[in-house]
Order: sequence, then structure tokens, then C-alpha cells
Amino acid sequence: MKKTVRDLAVAGKRVFVRVDFNVPFGSDDDEISDDTRIRAALPTIRYLTERKARVVLASHLGRPKGKVVDELRLKPVADRLALLLGTPVAYVEDCVGPEAEQAVARLHDGEVLLLENVRFRAEEEANDPEFAKQLGALANVYVNDAFGTAHRAHASTEGITHYLPSAAGLLMEKELRALEGLLGSPARPFACVFGGAKVSDKVGMMRSMLQRVDIILVGGGLAATFLKARGLEVGHSLVEDAALDVARDIIHESESRGVPVLLPVDVLVAAEVKAGVRVRIVPVTGIPSDMGIVDIGPRTIEYFSGKLESCRTIMWNGPMGVYEVDQFALGTKCLINYLTAFDATTVIGGGSSVDAVQEMGLAELVSHVSTGGGATLELLENGTLPCVEALDDASQPCDGSHPGNGEAK
Ligand code: ADP
Ligand code: MG
Repeated sequence: MKKTVRDLAVAGKRVFVRVDFNVPFGSDDDEISDDTRIRAALPTIRYLTERKARVVLASHLGRPKGKVVDELRLKPVADRLALLLGTPVAYVEDCVGPEAEQAVARLHDGEVLLLENVRFRAEEEANDPEFAKQLGALANVYVNDAFGTAHRAHASTEGITHYLPSAAGLLMEKELRALEGLLGSPARPFACVFGGAKVSDKVGMMRSMLQRVDIILVGGGLAATFLKARGLEVGHSLVEDAALDVARDIIHESESRGVPVLLPVDVLVAAEVKAGVRVRIVPVTGIPSDMGIVDIGPRTIEYFSGKLESCRTIMWNGPMGVYEVDQFALGTKCLINYLTAFDATTVIGGGSSVDAVQEMGLAELVSHVSTGGGATLELLENGTLPCVEALDDASQPCDGSHPGNGEAK
């Protein structure tokens, strides 16, 4: 168990909070097109301001690669955050150095400051100790609420923990509780449903989950590689030939463990992956050579939902088809409908999968919607993340043993 913000005495303290404000902007303006990530950090920020902490926020935005890029400044994010919080949010055009130090010194209890994009400094991604120490010198304690970047050991996500007492924020805590719950003692039967595009992205997690689950269901583009690995013809389907051996290994391991890895029995195929094309439903043994898989078929939807119905824990990652095209979205939509109707603990992770469930307006019915992407996959693969490991254990004393204020702990 890691220490959380709720274990800290924060009144009057300067609290450095690493958040994930890496939000998308509209293509032709500087308007934030989706502020979900800012909203996700509000509970931790409000928790701290209500307790009279001086909140120093830091985030990355985009990929400025160690240089100042005006379009990637965090000013619009500070403005949106102020709107959402209903209080002013100070903003400073640097994340370390005299300007940042002065801005921090001006903070009163309960006030919020957003530092400039930490990735304007090459030292951030290099996890430079001197830079981490400078960041740490801005505050008395450190809180990490940026779950989405917790798989990358950077200065503001890992290095800084060497200089300050360090705890998880409320969003980080929620993610860890839900995902570590899957790795600990989930209610059984426990099923994983994997889809999406690339086997190579997912094999690590699949291998790890194979040791923990009772059944695995595979759909989406992933299924084509597995079907081919089983010796079936898959026409034009997206197949990762380099991953065929890994798919065979997983099938083999599934057999030796007695954990079934179920593949589609029928699929929707099309000659091209675009809207308005003619589609056919075929058994997986009869995929035409001039067509490719774009979704799971109706019998597979029935088959998969039948298997999931009795499960008490279900983790789902990756859409069942090219759901961005309405015509190919039925498998994904039906599965989400079932998932949210079943009386099971349900966890959904992965950018596309989360988008799909949000578009359907059903996110509220899922036990946990993970904000993580790569971090979620890596946590499920390795059981931990470098930036989580770096936080203090819950049993560590809060004060006294840590010098704080920039001296190595
Ligand atoms: P997530 O973001 O949920 O982890 P991925 O990034 O692995 O999922 O994959 C999402 C992508 O997979 C979507 O863009 C979707 O169109 C694509 N996809 C799903 N099924 C197929 C398929 N049969 N053929 C090609 N692409 C597919
Ligand atoms: Mg994705």
C-alpha cells in the first residue's frame, strides 16, 4: 500500500501535484476540445484547497521535446481549470527558476498555481536529478495524480520523489485500487476480453493475465492474428505476422494452464475498411480471400456474452471491431451493453475502449473506467509502475524522517 494524499498533513504546506493535463485541442483553434483529464484531477485539487494547502500543479502537454513551443503552453489549461474550480488559478511561464519560485512564494493558503509545461525542459524526460531537485525545492510534499504517465520515470513523476515525502493523489489511488484489485483476489470467475488493433501492444498484458484469469475472449483485429496462428485463412484481415509465434505461445500456454482463450466463431467481413461498403457475415472457417475482418459476428456476440454472463469480474480492453465506422461497431456496442448489464465488477481500459463506452453514455455503469492507456496495460503486465513504486509506503512516517525542501531523502 502506498501513502495517499489523505495521509498527509497539508494545511499551510506547499504541495507539488503532478497531474495529467495533456488535453486535446481543436484542430483549427486553441480551444480545449475535451477537458476530461482536467476534470479527473479536480477531486485531488479540491481536497487540497479545502484543507488550505498551497497547490503547485505541474503537467506535460504534447511533445515539445525539450524546447519552448508556444502552442503547447499551459495558459489555456489554467483558464479552463479556473472555470471548473470556480476560483482563480495562477499561471507562470516556467516550471523552475526565479519566476516559478516567485510565483510559488506569492501563493496563499488554499490557492492554486499551474507551472509551465514540464516537457519544455529536456531534463524532464531525461529524469535529470538536478532538475528533479529544483522541482522538489518548490514544495514541502509531493503528490502524484498523473496515472496516465506513471509508466514513464521522468523528473516530475519519479525523480522528484527522491527529494520530497511522496503520496498518491485521489485519481491515482482510485486507479491503483481498481487495477490492483484485478491482480489481487478478484471475484471469480474472472474473464478478460481483449480486442483492438495490435497483438504486439497487448501480448505482455495477455501473458500476465493468463496466469490470473479463468477465461480469455479475443476479438477485434487481435483475433485475426490468433485465427491465423490456429491455421485459418483470414483474407485481407489486419494480421501481425511478427506476432504469430507469440500468439501460438499464448494458445499453447492457455492449453497447458487449462485457461480457455476463445476466438470468434463468425465475423463481419468487408473488402475495404470504410463506411458504405458491402459486408458479409461468415464463419471463421470461410473468410473470403478478398475480404478482411472488420467486426465479430452475431453468433460470436451470443457466444461471448453467454460466457461472460456467469463471470463476477470482467476486464475489457480493445474494441471488438473497427467501431469508428458505425457499420462495424455492433460487436463492440453489444458487448458494452452486456458488460454494463451483468452483475459483475467491470473494468474497462484503453483509449479506444473508453471512448466507445463514453460515446454510448454507459461509463457510469462500469465499475471502473481506467484513464491510463499504456500505464494501464503496463500495470496489468508487471503488477506495478515505476512512478508508483517511487511513492512512500503507507507505513512510512509523514514528517520528520524526510528532510523535504530539496535535500535528498
Ligand atoms: P485500446 O485503445 O482500447 O487499447 P487499441 O488501441 O489496441 O485499443 O485498438 C483500437 C483500434 O483497433 C481501433 O481504432 C479499431 O478500429 C481497431 N480495430 C478493432 N478491430 C479491428 C479489426 N478487425 N481490424 C482492424 N482494426 C481493428
Ligand atoms: Mg489505443
